[in-house]
Amino acid sequence: MNLDTTVRDGMTPFEAVNHFFARAAEINQLGDAAIEVLAGTYRELRVQLAVRRDDGSRLICNGYRVQHNGARGPYKGGIRFHPEADIEEVRALASLMTWKTALVDVPFGGAKGGVQVDPSRLSEPELERLTRRYTDQIGSVLGPQRDIPAPDMNTNAQTMSWILDQYGRKYGHTPQIVTGKPIALGGSYGRTEATGRGVVMTMDEAVSDAGLGDPSEVSVAVQGFGNVGSWAARIAAEEGYRIVAVSDIEGGIHVPGGINIDQLVAHVADTGTVTGFPGSDAVSNESLLELDVDVLIPAAIGEVITTENADRIQARIVVEGANHPTTPVADRILGDRGITVVPDILANAGGVTVSYYEWVQNNQEMRWSLEDVNRRLEAKLRRAYQQCREFQSGHEGLSLREAGFSLAVARVVEAAELRGYI
Ligand code: GLU
Repeated sequence: MNLDTTVRDGMTPFEAVNHFFARAAEINQLGDAAIEVLAGTYRELRVQLAVRRDDGSRLICNGYRVQHNGARGPYKGGIRFHPEADIEEVRALASLMTWKTALVDVPFGGAKGGVQVDPSRLSEPELERLTRRYTDQIGSVLGPQRDIPAPDMNTNAQTMSWILDQYGRKYGHTPQIVTGKPIALGGSYGRTEATGRGVVMTMDEAVSDAGLGDPSEVSVAVQGFGNVGSWAARIAAEEGYRIVAVSDIEGGIHVPGGINIDQLVAHVADTGTVTGFPGSDAVSNESLLELDVDVLIPAAIGEVITTENADRIQARIVVEGANHPTTPVADRILGDRGITVVPDILANAGGVTVSYYEWVQNNQEMRWSLEDVNRRLEAKLRRAYQQCREFQSGHEGLSLREAGFSLAVARVVEAAELRGYI
């Protein structure tokens, strides 16, 4: 087995996640069969997508669906449309879903889908045709009790509506085939903002553990202003945190006294970007990460905290809104420097948690109130955070990530053993 507990630069995303798994395997003293099963994936589907463009030409690209492990329940995970969504990336993201669902204890396995394309270059009708074609071609491995997609980077409730509709044409109307749907098609209140809300809930826990005081005394920088970053910034601001910097793909803004997020949201609605926000200083995405703040929330793409910049991160706490924003070497450097990292599988698990609630509501043919959804989300995330802290206190010197992976791995192994897989 090519499992590495030593850290080195240049790991692929899947090698990096498996590095964190390998540490947990060591801590849990897993046997060879368990390691071999869990360091691999169950199923990897690649499909060629040929889609008609508006001008009559063809767009041809690859689509993937990777199912990492299903011992604890149906496969679950988002679908991203991104030029870098290759098989290695999708494998890594699928395995992160296995550990994430186990850590927050929702009865799902882990999967991920990707279409390797730049969606900013496609029109809405082209995106619809692409989504419907992809659904047709991966439909045979999906199912409301088999594998349930959700939004991820560059996909949203509209994308889920097309998947639901296309799947329903062949298999009959099945609302619980996707989560992250619009309310009108059986979505859940609170799902859109759930990942950002979860980021803030876990940040609250880490801030109080670190004794940083009242939110008004805590400065926060957020990289990314997509679904995760924008909701995290809005909810954190509502709670009184001082959001001093945010960025998007165009660049970032810095306001040391704190950004008025409502005004920023209006500015983004007008201009399409956070840049140029009145009264702000421009800051690059790279230098935003190195600002002197209390909390840094990387909520954009993967692998932004690396060997290159880990020494220069000044935040006391890093809350990983994105998936795998920190490479293993950088993770080690941050740990050695006494910086607390709230790992992705905990910090951004709010999304899949409310996806689970959406699926439950669909199965019950009932709708819960927003208050109900948020109350349950809060209880689940705070419990998962506390369980990581308890695991840490029983095992000297472990990071929150090592604790989280250890708990998750133990749960998956227990289910896999009971089924006789390992
Ligand atoms: N794409 C989100 C994630 O990475 C949500 C997945 C889901 O709800 O199934 O956790």
